[in-house]
Amino acid sequence: MTVDTEELSKRATSVIEEAHQFAQRHLAPNAAQWGKGLFDRQALFEPAGSAGLLRLQVPLEYGGFDLSFADKVKVLYELARIDFSAAMALVNSHNVAVQLVKASPNQLAPRYVSDLLRGSFVACTALTEPDAGSDLGQVKTTAIRNGEGWLLNGTKTWIINAVHADGVVVYAQTQAGSGVKGIAAFFIRADSPGFERLAVATSSALSSMGIGGFRLTNVYCDSSHLLYEPGQAFVDIMGAINRARTYVAAMCCAMVSQALSDVSVYGHKRTAFGQSLDQYQGWRWQVAQAATALQAAELLVREACDLIDKGGEVQTAAAQAKLYATSMAQTQLGSLLHAMGAEGFLDRYAFLRHLTAAHTASLADGSTAMLLERVAHEFRFKPGAT
Ligand SMILES: Cc1cc2nc3c(=O)[nH]c(=O)nc-3n(C[C@H](O)[C@H](O)[C@H](O)COP(=O)(O)OP(=O)(O)OC[C@H]3O[C@@H](n4cnc5c(N)ncnc54)[C@H](O)[C@@H]3O)c2cc1C
Repeated sequence: MTVDTEELSKRATSVIEEAHQFAQRHLAPNAAQWGKGLFDRQALFEPAGSAGLLRLQVPLEYGGFDLSFADKVKVLYELARIDFSAAMALVNSHNVAVQLVKASPNQLAPRYVSDLLRGSFVACTALTEPDAGSDLGQVKTTAIRNGEGWLLNGTKTWIINAVHADGVVVYAQTQAGSGVKGIAAFFIRADSPGFERLAVATSSALSSMGIGGFRLTNVYCDSSHLLYEPGQAFVDIMGAINRARTYVAAMCCAMVSQALSDVSVYGHKRTAFGQSLDQYQGWRWQVAQAATALQAAELLVREACDLIDKGGEVQTAAAQAKLYATSMAQTQLGSLLHAMGAEGFLDRYAFLRHLTAAHTASLADGSTAMLLERVAHEFRFKPGAT
């Protein structure tokens, strides 16, 4: 299907505007309640599906919008300004639709993608295990050939949407001792015999992320549901992780941008010692520091987005964007919360939810240590080098 550039650009503008409206009308009134653990999947996925927010990078022929990566990031930015956790939940389910189209365009995509776009089917991606986080070579979930398919056994934890997902992309080891080369990716349904959900007791501030885990006991997976062969799965997930690092960085910028707006409005109307807070140089400087740090992070994000859309090598740029933006958000959200005084702790603002989110963002899709190693790799440190 061919579409001219003008039409693509109009579509992107309208989806970004839709995301803005959805965030204001739907996320803003619900986010504080969700942040107390009162999250209900029906309240998020189907309304977001109706607003088109699960169609972003899915190709047109499968009912999607075929947006560029930079435009997808702008949509997530609008959502994350109000609720980072809900934005993460939506993009994780959306990404599975994109993966099904890419890896199984004739079998799994026709079966699942339209429901994923509607939000009536929710999905997640599961790599992490109780004993395998940063070190993915340690994945112990096994996939053993069994007739026409595979038998999967193991436990996954810390998975976004696992609390209510209908479908799961599972990364599992097909050959003991072969590290990441033996890892393959499978798509399984959560109603398969042997699939059991496990709770992860965590901060309710993250409840719209639906963090959970599951145990697989002899779950049968037909060969048609093998998404990526051993070896290929790791290559694919590394590409996906670089893109995720970039949008997580953008979403951290979004939270700081929202905090800056709230602080500027409040600092103008709140008075102390006879004048508004924003008349005090000491108070204004905190805001100026945050605005400058935000601008620097946004430039790194933009560079990584450009590289992704041009098909360039993005590993280092994505790592630097996420390193800088997560740490910037952790620091600046704390500082801007302080600039609000006690007011910043009220439910009508997102400071507390977003501060928690910024800390989790520095672990999800590659912890700070992994990102630093990625950047350090550019310097090609060698033992004994002078
Ligand atoms: C909010 C959230 C959402 C998530 N969503 C998903 C999901 O949808 N799917 C999924 O599969 N996983 C998900 N994860 C898991 C995430 O990918 C892991 O938390 C991450 O890979 C880090 O693993 P870990 O928590 O086991 O920490 P570990 O790997 O145990 O690391 C613990 C600490 O040690 C540091 N460290 C580790 N190795 C080194 C080293 N070589 N040198 C120096 N320091 C080191 C780390 O930086 C970290 O600070 C999510 C996590 C969070 C917090």
